[in-house]
Parts: sequence; structure tokens; C-alpha cells
Amino acid sequence: MADDRGRVMFVGMNCLDISTTCQVYPEEDSDHDCLDMLWVRGGNASNSSTACALLGGNTQYMGNLADTYELQFFKDTFEEVGIHYEDCPIVKSQCPRTLVLINASTGSRTLMYYGGGYPELAEKDFRSRITLTPGKYRWIHFEVVLEFLGRPNVDDIQAMIRHIQEFNMAAREDDKIKISLELEKIRRIESAHLMKEVDLVFVSKDYAIAKGFHDMESAVVGFEKFLRPGGTVICAWGEKGAAAKAWDQSVTTSKAFPPERLVNTTAAGDTFNAATILALTKGLPLHDAITYACKVAGAKCGMRGFERLKELAFS
Ligand code: ADP
Repeated sequence: MADDRGRVMFVGMNCLDISTTCQVYPEEDSDHDCLDMLWVRGGNASNSSTACALLGGNTQYMGNLADTYELQFFKDTFEEVGIHYEDCPIVKSQCPRTLVLINASTGSRTLMYYGGGYPELAEKDFRSRITLTPGKYRWIHFEVVLEFLGRPNVDDIQAMIRHIQEFNMAAREDDKIKISLELEKIRRIESAHLMKEVDLVFVSKDYAIAKGFHDMESAVVGFEKFLRPGGTVICAWGEKGAAAKAWDQSVTTSKAFPPERLVNTTAAGDTFNAATILALTKGLPLHDAITYACKVAGAKCGMRGFERLKELAFS
């Protein structure tokens, strides 16, 4: 890659999605032909990396890669779209897998996870493998996800964030790395305290509902108190679009942009996060960034796979 500055890095998990499209949602103990069955590289951070790269971002994925026969598939699919993944530790573990059942009649997706003992990224590996040099990284995004596999690595995430903060304290203003975090589902281990550590927080609709909010506007208003001064919170809300609130500013919203035909809503949120981050790194104001992200995520709901996101690449 010619210009290797200003990378956006997504830290989190990857998994093999066995993406199965059926004409109707199957009944238990029945046999069906399906329309399609594909191997897809999935996992939130891995999906966001794909979206970001296709939208034109200089992108890195960071997370453990399991040492199984899926490894070559992961490497190939990272390379296909030009995602840096060389710093990922290769770990002895089963590969996490997800059965994704897509109902072609409605576009809904049902997920069945298998963790297989896959460990989340440890802070010591982040610290030893990632070299934070001025200008190399523009933005680093984290996610708190893995409850179904065991304990989410909240302490490790906090330590990785602190490591970046230390770099930022010594860096020139232009070289400071922005940090974001996604809180997707309510976990047994509370992670809300991490909101204070980062510049931008994405809270999902599920997370907001579990915390007692009924719509995206009241969610961002309610979550503001968890932010640090200058922080921002964004809440995407499916077909309603998304709302955002920067510290001490008023709420801004974007409507959703439904595709002509709903094909597959898998990874809409991961795509939304990637598009928002990329737009902000390009200097778009918050309102324009979430509007661009809603357009991109809406388009994603109308396509199989990610490839056609290229048509919406940031110009
Ligand atoms: P997740 O995939 O995490 O459940 P959401 O459902 O909140 O994510 O969707 C993220 C974004 O994707 C929304 O803000 C919206 O812009 C877009 N989106 C999701 N579902 C639809 C839909 N049915 N029609 C149009 N846009 C959608």
C-alpha cells in the first residue's frame, strides 16, 4: 500500500459465518432445500474492517486468529479487500463459528454461535504487536462482545485503551489517535465505565432497550452522562436510522435509507460503525457522518456480502 498512514483499526473478534439463506424460516425437525450456503468471514470487528476497506479506508484488523483449517480462508479474505492483519496472534483454539439463518422472505437473520474456547485478544499481545507511531493510526475501535464464549475481556480492553491514551498524551495534536467503543449487548460483566475512557461510544438498540430507553433520541440523551467531556455517543436503531449526541450539543439524527428490497440485515450495525468512523476521519461533521453511515448500512441491507459497498466508497 503506497500511503500507509492514517489507518483505522478494528479490535475484536472474527468468526466463520456459515451463511444460509432459506425461502422461509424452517420448522423444527423438518427438511428443506436452501437457496444459498456460503462461508463468510464474520465477527463484528472483522465485518467492520471489511466495510471500512471497501469504503476506501486504510484498514487494519486486530484480534486472535484460530490455528485451524479456516485460517487460510480468513487470510485470503483479508487480503482480497486489502485489510492489514499481520499483527494478529495465531492461537491454538477452535475457530468460533456462527450459523446465520437468513429468511429470504423477510430479510431477518437468526444467529447460532459456537465459541469453541476462542480467547479474546489479551492486552499484552496488543502492546507487543502494535507499534503506535505518529501518523500510523488515525482511529482505533474496540468492542465488548464475547459473553457467549465466556468472560468478555473488559479489563484487557481498558488496558489497551489506556496504552493508546499514554501514546496520545505524548503525541502532537494531529497525531493523536481517536478511540471508539461499541457496547452491543448487556453483559454480566458491566462495561459502562469504559464509556468515560473513549472519544466515541456506539450503543446498540439492544443495549439501550436493556438500559430502559425506548427510542434512539432518549438513549443518546440518557447515555451522555457516561461520557467524558468532549465525548460523543451514537445509537443506531434499525429501520428508524440513528441518533448522535456530542457532549453538551443537541441531539442530531438521520433517517434510515431502506434498500429497494431487504436482502440481509446481517452486519448492518458493523457497517454503520465503520462508515461513521471513516466519515469522521475524513472530517465530516457528526450529522453528515451518521447520515452517510445510514445510507451505507441501508444499502448493505439490500445486498448479499459486502462487495458492492465499493460503489459507496468515500470520495
Ligand atoms: P445491528 O446490525 O447491530 O442490529 P441496526 O439494526 O441498529 O444494527 O442497524 C444499523 C443501521 O443499519 C441503522 O442505523 C440503519 O441505518 C441501517 N438499517 C438496519 N436495518 C435497516 C432496515 N431494515 N432498513 C434500512 N436501514 C436499516
